[in-house]
Amino acid sequence: MSAQKAGSGNARTAGHSKKFTVVIALVAVVLTLLLVARSQGIVITDYLSLQSLKAQQESIEAYFHANPLLTAGIYFSVYVLVTAFSLPGAAVMTLAGGAVFGLLWGTVIVSFASTIGATLAFLVSRYLLRDMVQARLGDKLKAINEGIERDGPFYLFTLRLVPLFPFFVINLVMGLTPLATRTFYWVSQIGMLAGTVVYVNAGTQLARIDSLDGILSPGLIASFTLLGLFPLITRKIVDRVKAQRVYARWQKPARFDRNVVVIGAGSAGLVTAYIGSAVKAKVTLVERHKMGGDCLNTGCVPSKALIRSAKFLSHIKRSGEFGIRDATASFDFSDVMERVRKVIADIEPHDSVERYTELGVECLQGDARIVSPWEVEVTTPQGSQRLTTRSIVIAAGARPFVPPIPGLEEAGYLTSDTIWNLRELPARMVVLGGGPIGSELTQCFARLGSKVTQVEMLPRILIREDPEVSDTVMHSFRDDGVTVLVEHKAKQVIVENGEKVLLCDGPDGEIRVPFDAMLVAVGRVANTTGYGLEELGIGTNRTRTVETNEFLQTVYPNIFACGDVAGPFQFTHTAAHQAWYAAVNALFGGLKRFRADYSVIPWATFTEPEVARVGLNETEARERNIAHEVTVYGIDDLDRAIADSEAHGMVKVLTVPGKDKILGVTIVGEHAGDLIAEFVLAMRHGLGLNKLLGTIHIYPTLAEANKFAAGNWKREHAPQKVLQWLKRYHTWKRG
Ligand SMILES: Cc1cc2nc3c(=O)[nH]c(=O)nc-3n(C[C@H](O)[C@H](O)[C@H](O)COP(=O)(O)OP(=O)(O)OC[C@H]3O[C@@H](n4cnc5c(N)ncnc54)[C@H](O)[C@@H]3O)c2cc1C
Repeated sequence: MSAQKAGSGNARTAGHSKKFTVVIALVAVVLTLLLVARSQGIVITDYLSLQSLKAQQESIEAYFHANPLLTAGIYFSVYVLVTAFSLPGAAVMTLAGGAVFGLLWGTVIVSFASTIGATLAFLVSRYLLRDMVQARLGDKLKAINEGIERDGPFYLFTLRLVPLFPFFVINLVMGLTPLATRTFYWVSQIGMLAGTVVYVNAGTQLARIDSLDGILSPGLIASFTLLGLFPLITRKIVDRVKAQRVYARWQKPARFDRNVVVIGAGSAGLVTAYIGSAVKAKVTLVERHKMGGDCLNTGCVPSKALIRSAKFLSHIKRSGEFGIRDATASFDFSDVMERVRKVIADIEPHDSVERYTELGVECLQGDARIVSPWEVEVTTPQGSQRLTTRSIVIAAGARPFVPPIPGLEEAGYLTSDTIWNLRELPARMVVLGGGPIGSELTQCFARLGSKVTQVEMLPRILIREDPEVSDTVMHSFRDDGVTVLVEHKAKQVIVENGEKVLLCDGPDGEIRVPFDAMLVAVGRVANTTGYGLEELGIGTNRTRTVETNEFLQTVYPNIFACGDVAGPFQFTHTAAHQAWYAAVNALFGGLKRFRADYSVIPWATFTEPEVARVGLNETEARERNIAHEVTVYGIDDLDRAIADSEAHGMVKVLTVPGKDKILGVTIVGEHAGDLIAEFVLAMRHGLGLNKLLGTIHIYPTLAEANKFAAGNWKREHAPQKVLQWLKRYHTWKRG
């Protein structure tokens, strides 16, 4: 129950800190010079006013004719300094450039001096402020950073040309972004050229200028604005032309039978179809296997049903803890699996053809194949039909990945697709994989009575979570009798005297694990082949999921992808979340498109203890150099958990240093997946720990753990000085 501070400074590279020191020293030198000058009654900026310039024009010109190069050198250096330190006066200096050097040389000198100065200001901002700003705002800036990486030069060009944006603000703000220095330099030089010419030209007629305001006429401002918007508009046109080009080889139907055809009736496809029908679009949903997809038939539902039975058995084993002297269970594994089947059957109506047909969705049981950007061919036992549609949503899901381990095919294996057909409990089981699916099923089968060995090649199971979380779950597994082998790589399966044996390489050399059944749960691959994507040229990305933009559009803007087939997350709730964007963008994208928002994504692993997370964990915050504080509340102290004999686990909250803003939460313990919902809501709607603390939580509930975590944070941030004064006040009151 402590709050620890974890800064980001130590991760800063040596190179960065060197540059940082140089910049600090430079700033300090210049500020000192300015202060010294001021103490002598010299205010630099007084010299950079229009009146002062006009008053001294003659003497400056005389000096220039006597010392042309020296004048140019001094002018250049002062210009660079003024812009680098964002001092007021750049406009007057530009006029001076025109007055002294004439239009051509004035433009050349000012163009380089202003760009170099702007770049120095950009670098000062970058090295003084960027780390701090990025660390403070963390994930909030992710979208902006991505936007700048993608479109930064266009934005900068526009900002440079539109005279509404002050020069020095652009320099400083751009310094906080990931825009490359080189890009900043050349875009600035080109973008500022038109303005430079106008001001230098005005400077050539200095005598006629009475104020800076008149230099840019409304007509000129409008022209600059148009010029500034030109690249962005061009960019949009180029995007449109590019999109049109992918369609060039296809014949577009004159009219469409449907608004949207959805391929796959899993979580993503069902929600897409639901939304489409809710807004009265004509939607066809095609499923080649079972309505409900993986979640209902081979994923979330059966696994949670099995977990329930396994948990019941574990409670019987722990009966003594609940004051029950003797409790035994007599069961048949096949009955447990029958219950799993029945649970699926009970939920099936939610995802059924009947329900969706009633909602107005046309449901086709068959194989879908995209044959053109607007046509899907559906093959059913009755034959084939071609559907024309304005948009297509690919929601084809994923399947278990089976690594090419020698001997595996011959020995036979189970996956999350096939394990539900088991009716006999394997006496000895190997589970390959320490991710959520492998871990949930490892514990289930161990509790049901299999002797389970879990093999993971990474240093720990549940690698996405913090190390102590993995350790807690691993200890719980060992208590359940599981042999957990981390840092062990499966290399071969052999059959020896009729017995299957897995050979693994581990830190202590090769080990042999005899087994009766093996579950392969080492990851899932998106279904991206065999239904037209190759022919259309719809590619995949690094994670082998369908390549989409932030609107979930593929290379064909009317073809979308969502759910496991699109990634990056592989959960039912993220599939449903993406489906909203895919459906709305597919149906209304011509009017307005919505970027899929991944800012607050929660998930849970339903082991015992359950592990739930939203936002950052400590490991990620450190890796990404995000400044944070950690507050932990131990659930061993919670009344309800103690009453339930489940007094274990923790609520671990990461916050912005000195603030109650939540960066991420990990909960380990009973019903962690339910408890996290309060933090998901808080993060989604920007509520801090103070708000959570000020909310009544029912006593005695597990949910109180959330409030107590907020309480721990509050205690750590109590205003000590104020408390000391309060103590004095109360002492005084006592007389
Ligand atoms: C064991 C296990 C446990 C899980 N537990 C959880 C959990 O607790 N919580 C959670 O959030 N997630 C869990 N998941 C993940 C979750 O099941 C998936 O993220 C979710 O099902 C993805 O939905 P989807 O619609 O993208 O794909 P799917 O559910 O796979 O649906 C895709 C559908 O498309 C169909 N299809 C593919 N190609 C075609 C074609 N050409 N024509 C017609 N139909 C086609 C397929 O038959 C399939 O039905 C679990 C997964 C597994 C395997």
